[in-house]
Amino acid sequence: LAENRQKNILVTGGAGFIGSHLCKALLDLGHYVICLDNLFTGSKDNISDLIDNSSFEFVNHDIIEPYFRKNLDEIYNLACPASPIHYQHNPIKTVKTCTLGVINILGLAKKNNAKVLQASTSEIYGDPEIHPQNEKYNGNVNSIGPRSCYDEGKRCSETLFMDYHREHNLKIKIIRIFNTYGPNMANNDGRVISNFILQAIKGNKLTINGDGTQTRSFQYVDDLIEGMIKMMSTNDHFTGPINMGNPNEISMNKLASLIIELTNSKSEIIYQHLPKDDPKRRKPEISLANNKLNWMPLINLQDGLFRTIEYFKKLNEIN
Ligand code: NAD
Ligand code: UDP
Repeated sequence: LAENRQKNILVTGGAGFIGSHLCKALLDLGHYVICLDNLFTGSKDNISDLIDNSSFEFVNHDIIEPYFRKNLDEIYNLACPASPIHYQHNPIKTVKTCTLGVINILGLAKKNNAKVLQASTSEIYGDPEIHPQNEKYNGNVNSIGPRSCYDEGKRCSETLFMDYHREHNLKIKIIRIFNTYGPNMANNDGRVISNFILQAIKGNKLTINGDGTQTRSFQYVDDLIEGMIKMMSTNDHFTGPINMGNPNEISMNKLASLIIELTNSKSEIIYQHLPKDDPKRRKPEISLANNKLNWMPLINLQDGLFRTIEYFKKLNEIN
């Protein structure tokens, strides 16, 4: 019964793509939600449906600065730009968010004796040499490249989480999120699914980086939210890290064709320069999440893409 009471839950990065879905899901479960965001890549539009809810509060704040708040039960730390163009826009700031910012959030959790969950990433595996990637794999990360601010930043966040757990007995959870997509991605997000959909519905050329044989495995956002909330409710001994993603792997060539087909678009494809350190393959091994959380993704790529296409059409007033 204690588990069913209304909790005070802080969601950092709550005005972003994933964060806005998480805030909504936690409100639907009856909790009080504090959405903290500096609005760098997030927007108030993503939370416009929530703002009038008396159990919802928006705080404009940057996690690089300490934040004080009492009576928190849980914290989900999602604050960090996630798209390569955005995290590379100010790479030093990205590292600060993942280190100084995370120390602030861990300190806040410690003062409140709150559970804290870190939105880590498949990027901590870098350009993986094993396939699919399981949680025991230590990764293949370049420490000095253009993606390093994010990859190494997120690796350091995991280290900080584990050290606060070992040193201070903090109740922590680490999830490694693989490529996720869905409504509330911004028009200028820059990641592949939003780019391809926008290009296809506007009749512009789809921009494939490199030869398009590189793969990713795409998870629809609703599946992730379900997994995140399940992970938070596991017993205090279980910290993760745990992979969360859809194992259905697809090449960028196939993804572009599929999106052209689903949008009935006449768009063509152009090939452009492959960014440095772009991972060649990525696919999660999810048996740990399956066993521990009884979780697996349920929404297939076509259905998820349909919903995301509808969202982008509406956002851009395209019929
Ligand atoms: P997003 O860019 O839409 O959301 C990030 C949010 O954090 C934005 O609202 C942004 O304004 C906010 N933010 C950034 N820096 C901040 C700071 N210093 N202080 C306060 N707020 C800050 O991206 P997303 O896809 O929703 O990603 C959310 C989290 O999930 C990120 O931590 C990301 O690393 C992680 N993740 C996402 C994916 C994915 O495929 N979407 C994959 C792996 C990990
Ligand atoms: N990509 C692409 N065209 C685009 C944007 C991205 O071909 O307009 C490629 C990118 O080079 C990568 C894959 O799509 O190989 C996934 O890129 P994204 O930025 O979505 O995520 P990440 O590389 O972080 O997995």
